[in-house]
Amino acid sequence: MKARPGYFGLFGGRFVPETLVEPLRALTKAYAKARRDPSFNRELAAELRDFVGRPTPLTFARRLSAQLGLKLYLKREDLAHTGAHKINNTVGQALLAKRMKKTRLIAETGAGQHGVATAAAAARYGLSCTVFMGTEDMRRQAPNVDRMRLLGAEVVPVSAGTRTLKDATSEALRVWSATSSDTHYVLGSALGPHPYPTMVGDFQSVIGTEARRQVLAACGRLPWEVVACVGGGSNAIGIFSGFLKDKGVRLTGVEAGGRGIGSGLHAARFSGGRPGVLHGTYTYLLQDKHGQVRNTHSVSAGLDYPAVGPEHAQLRALGRARYVFATDAEAVAALKILCRLEGILPALESAHALAYVLRERRRLRKGSIVLVNLSGRGDKDMPALEPYL
Ligand SMILES: *Cc1c(COP(=O)(O)O)cnc(C)c1O
Repeated sequence: MKARPGYFGLFGGRFVPETLVEPLRALTKAYAKARRDPSFNRELAAELRDFVGRPTPLTFARRLSAQLGLKLYLKREDLAHTGAHKINNTVGQALLAKRMKKTRLIAETGAGQHGVATAAAAARYGLSCTVFMGTEDMRRQAPNVDRMRLLGAEVVPVSAGTRTLKDATSEALRVWSATSSDTHYVLGSALGPHPYPTMVGDFQSVIGTEARRQVLAACGRLPWEVVACVGGGSNAIGIFSGFLKDKGVRLTGVEAGGRGIGSGLHAARFSGGRPGVLHGTYTYLLQDKHGQVRNTHSVSAGLDYPAVGPEHAQLRALGRARYVFATDAEAVAALKILCRLEGILPALESAHALAYVLRERRRLRKGSIVLVNLSGRGDKDMPALEPYL
């Protein structure tokens, strides 16, 4: 059967109101054209080098590896400009928006990391910027609200629903449908209607391309396993993409187990969800028996979203990647260990990936090479960590 454009097997698609069909079509076309244009690819590569700071290093975690009996390597997206992988995508989309002659960017944000990365790209390319953020998140992530404003963005409070990321995303889509003639919507993860999951995945694939080359240079062979945390799924798909064709490399995504699956307070879509539609895409989703979207919980705001990117749903269906979860407590413990043993304060999101490796160490063969995507730095998490110090 021929693959349907915009679908990953059964998953993905474009389930949107009519007002969004035309803007999404135009975006799909413009993106395909830009990707075929060597001048776009040159400009993007130069900006990733000079503005974002790529390639990010691969760090051998020497002391932790000795404790675990593994060879643990960290892909250091925490060292990318603004402190996480999000900037790889916002720079790409902002350059595309400029080509499409848009003058304004809008974005949704939860923890504020994607909002900050969008505001930084907008400032660099002379675009105006509006970021939608739930009022609950604005309260929890006040320092990032100030950072966005300092970078010239307008932050619009969203007080609908649970006043978090899901509601900010709905508002951004609604505003975009009325303003798309001069506005580009910078979606922050490998989620949403076609072409976003494909486009965001492409912009993040630089992580996997670099990491594969770096591991081969350091070890002379491929890793046994590649591990990444999964919110919407963009940092995970970014690093997985470099190894998809290497059938021997195990790919593991780690979702937020919150206070445990039994508690109902989590964001583990593959452990507690089933397929449905949210924000324009058909994918695994936390929902009640009537199909109403369920509330989620995670200590890390970046993993606290009820749906997962559709490509992950397909990778799981194909058996190419596996998905597990780590709890709040396991993530905080892993964060502390990385601080003490390696001198690196990871984002709470990234600490979920690390927590899985710590838990599984006995099941891994001694000396195995394990590659963890350190998606961001943890400075933003200081307020959230306070109760654990
Ligand atoms: C936003 C964020 C995530 C989760 O988003 P993905 O699209 O799943 O990558 C993970 N880590 C950090 C540091 C983030 O800022």
